[in-house]
Amino acid sequence: MPGEFDFIRRFLHHFPKARVPVGPGDDCAVLAPSRGALCVTTDAVVEDVHFTRAGFSPADIGHKALAVNLSDVAAMGATPRWFVCALALPRDFPAAHLSGIARGMAALAREHRVDLVGGNFTSARELSVTITATGELSRPPLTRSGARPGDWLYVSGTLGDARLGLAHLKAGLRKGGPVRRQRRPVPRVALGLLASRFASAALDVSDGLAQDLGHLCTASGVRATVELARLPMSAVVRRE
Ligand SMILES: [Mg+2]
Repeated sequence: MPGEFDFIRRFLHHFPKARVPVGPGDDCAVLAPSRGALCVTTDAVVEDVHFTRAGFSPADIGHKALAVNLSDVAAMGATPRWFVCALALPRDFPAAHLSGIARGMAALAREHRVDLVGGNFTSARELSVTITATGELSRPPLTRSGARPGDWLYVSGTLGDARLGLAHLKAGLRKGGPVRRQRRPVPRVALGLLASRFASAALDVSDGLAQDLGHLCTASGVRATVELARLPMSAVVRRE
């Protein structure tokens, strides 16, 4: 297995140079926010919990690890700017797969103009990718506690696809829209920014609408009425 330095070089090689005062290579990165407040979040994807190596390519894993974090930043109505990445790698992990993870992560990072500014490698029994992402706020953050009686409830996209994708993967299916949604979640960054101008509250729906709506209602001290027939669902989810 190559040394940590080789891993770092191999991984960073896929990312553009970070636009920060001090980037990867020092003990800390140094960031220079252009305005206002920063929001910060962290989330991990862990082998056999959030993905399997049989069902996900290395690039899928890299994409997903960053996407779930960008999704949290988006839900606050912030613009994602910087992230750090901690990788736990099994001892036999192939170097080519490390490049794959970096490629999937870097493609999504480029799309959202968010810079990798640091990270860490450690060895572990299971593969996991932990990312901490920051975003800049140009207006007050969207929190879970701002909902008021009379507000309308909106969701983005369609519900249930990723969960169905997980069931498909477990059943051995490797293709189709739901599997893609499970492997390649799309962070709704532009929508989060737009929503921050109009919405009273928001959250990232990652545990399913029923559970996450419960979190929002509890934080806001409100109740919600949902007409099930009006929930947006893709044709494939409706059929199942
Ligand atoms: Mg989330």
